[in-house]
Amino acid sequence: MIPLINLKRQFTTIEKEIVTAVNDVIQSGNYILGPRVSELEKKAAQRLGTADAITLGNGTDALALTLEAFGIGSGDEVITSPFTFFATAEAISRAGAVPVFADVTPDFFTIDPEEVAKKITSRTKAILPVHLFGQPADMDEINAIAKEHDLIVIEDACQAFGAFYKGMPVGSLADAGCFSFFPTKNLGTLGDGGMVTTSDEQIAAKIRKLRAHGSEQKYYHDMIGYNSRLDEIHAAILLICLQHIEDWNNQRKKLANHYNDAFSDLKTLLPPRTKPDRTHIYHLYCLKTENRDQAVDFLQERRISTGIYYPCCLHLQSAYKDLGYKHGDFPVAEQLSDQLFAIPMHPFLGEDEQQIIISAVKEMDEER
Ligand SMILES: *Cc1c(COP(=O)(O)O)cnc(C)c1O
Repeated sequence: MIPLINLKRQFTTIEKEIVTAVNDVIQSGNYILGPRVSELEKKAAQRLGTADAITLGNGTDALALTLEAFGIGSGDEVITSPFTFFATAEAISRAGAVPVFADVTPDFFTIDPEEVAKKITSRTKAILPVHLFGQPADMDEINAIAKEHDLIVIEDACQAFGAFYKGMPVGSLADAGCFSFFPTKNLGTLGDGGMVTTSDEQIAAKIRKLRAHGSEQKYYHDMIGYNSRLDEIHAAILLICLQHIEDWNNQRKKLANHYNDAFSDLKTLLPPRTKPDRTHIYHLYCLKTENRDQAVDFLQERRISTGIYYPCCLHLQSAYKDLGYKHGDFPVAEQLSDQLFAIPMHPFLGEDEQQIIISAVKEMDEER
């Protein structure tokens, strides 16, 4: 079976460096909030073009603590996409606010600024666009709406480390950017991890406090916080991965270009599209088709893995039934959840493997 992603292959290429780095951490005797975390935060901020970066326990906390740091909570509304991983909306709920969904665009799958504008009420405090599958959302339009209504904008960049919008890195395009280092993300570690980027010093200081029990000075607590820190071991691993992320993303782009060329004239399957003013770093490579079940079965028979991102829109999740949404509320997102499926995409996908996948997809298209 050709897997969707091959993490073992990826981490094996840097196994020796990781073992050495982990040994160094063991020998240092310093395992939480030590020098590697500081170094990673400094290097990530430099690379992403923000004044600061704060690492956390995971990407969900990055979103939730950022919302909280901006004072967003009970009684507030945050506008986001119904077509994303559950954690995006979950973080809004965790912060005590209400997620308000706005539909996405059919071609790029990111939140539609015109739909966002329609959802603004007197309770709206923030917009939370998602750079879905590795493609930046329409940030200029979103920032313009936010400016007009005095709203905070937080980027969910969990799937898009290293993507650019008009020459600027995601994570630097709004008030704050949130990242996940979960193993399957483009930049991931051997466990959980997350990060916030921001150039707002006060917000950065507040998130630093929140991640460590609301404390700046040990055993003195100014607020009720969390325990959400990135371990030194993961910081050490991520410092190694950071040296490779550009190559890895470039390899994803190269493979995606092969796919795009090969799939440009298919009749029954549509390859993903990218707007010319931004880069897509293909966290996932998804094809769109009307008969998805048949496509998934066809590829399964040829030992090619597929994945469905996402089979159930957030407004239709049972956890959100109290919000009162129904089928038909977000037709574009609902259609995408019926029609998209991912095919294998990762930096270590072999050319021979990709050729097998391309041939199978083309054969399927001809037979339909
Ligand atoms: C992975 C992901 C998250 C959550 O990150 P975790 O590190 O798993 O908590 C949030 N939003 C999006 C879009 C994601 O893909």
